[in-house]
Amino acid sequence: NSAPHYRGRFAPTPSGPLHFGSLVAALGSYLDAKAHNGSWLVRVEDVDKTRAVEGADTMILAQLETHGLYWDGEVIYQSDRDEVYQQVLHDLGNDIYSCDCSRQQIRQRGECYDGLCRTRQPRPQPYALRFINDKPVTQFTDRWHGLVSPDSDCVEEDFIVKRRDNLFAYQLAVVVDDIAQQITDVVRGSDLLQPSFWQLTLWQRFKGACPRMMHLPLVLNTDGRKLSKQNHAAPIDSGQPLQNLKLAATHLQLGEINAETVTEFLQKATASWCKKWHIMGN
Ligand code: GLU
Repeated sequence: NSAPHYRGRFAPTPSGPLHFGSLVAALGSYLDAKAHNGSWLVRVEDVDKTRAVEGADTMILAQLETHGLYWDGEVIYQSDRDEVYQQVLHDLGNDIYSCDCSRQQIRQRGECYDGLCRTRQPRPQPYALRFINDKPVTQFTDRWHGLVSPDSDCVEEDFIVKRRDNLFAYQLAVVVDDIAQQITDVVRGSDLLQPSFWQLTLWQRFKGACPRMMHLPLVLNTDGRKLSKQNHAAPIDSGQPLQNLKLAATHLQLGEINAETVTEFLQKATASWCKKWHIMGN
C-alpha cells in the first residue's frame, strides 16, 4: 500500500483560550487521526501577530492536555517561520506581484480584485503581494459536505500572499506549513470551507496535489452566529473536561457516548468515529 501515513493537525490561532467551537475542531481532527492510526500534530497559528494574545498558546495547550488530547511531535509556531515564508515568496518569482490598491479602490472597480496591478509594476511601498491566480481550484470534494462550489467569483481573483502591513497572509502560511508538516488530512471548522479554494490552489501550485479535506459543522450562538473569540465566546471550563468532550461529540453527530473517564471517552469516541465514517482496520 503506497498511501502516505495519515497526518492530521489542529491549528489554533492563539487569540484567546479554547471555546466550545475550537474544542469541536480539536476533537474532530483528533478522532479522525486516531481512527486512521495516524499522527495528530498541533501548530500554533500566530502568523498574524496583531491577533496573538500573550500566553494564549500555553493556555490552549494546557486545555488540550486536560481533555486528553495529546499531540505527536513538537508544537510548531508560525511566528518562528518568517524566513520559510519569505523563501517561498522568493521562489514564486513571477507568479506574484506587488499591489498598492486600497480596499476602497478595489470595491469601486468591482466585487473582486481585478488584477489591475499585474501590469503596473513596480508599485510604491507599502504594497501587498498577490498571487497570479491563473489556475484557480473551483471545486473540491469535502468528506463532510461532499462536492463544494465557491459562493463567490472571488476564488478566481489574484489573492494576497503578503499583506501591505508586511505580515504573511494566513492563506499562504497554512499551506506552506501543512506541506512542510506532510499533512495528508485537513479537518477543521466549516468557517474555513470557502478559504479552502485559495488554499487548494496554492497546494496545486506547490505540490500538484491536494490533501483530503473535512469541514466540521460550526457551533453557532443563539443568535445564529459562529462562536468565535471576536464575539466573546466563553472559554471552555477546564474543570469539566468529560462533560465538554461529550457535548463536542454530540455536536460531531456521534450521539451519546457513555464513559467515566476522559481516556475511556476518547477510546469509545474513536470507535464511533470509525463506524460513522466507515474507517476500517481499527
Ligand atoms: N488557525 C485557524 C483558526 O484558528 C485554523 C486554521 C486551520 O485549521 O486550517 O481558525
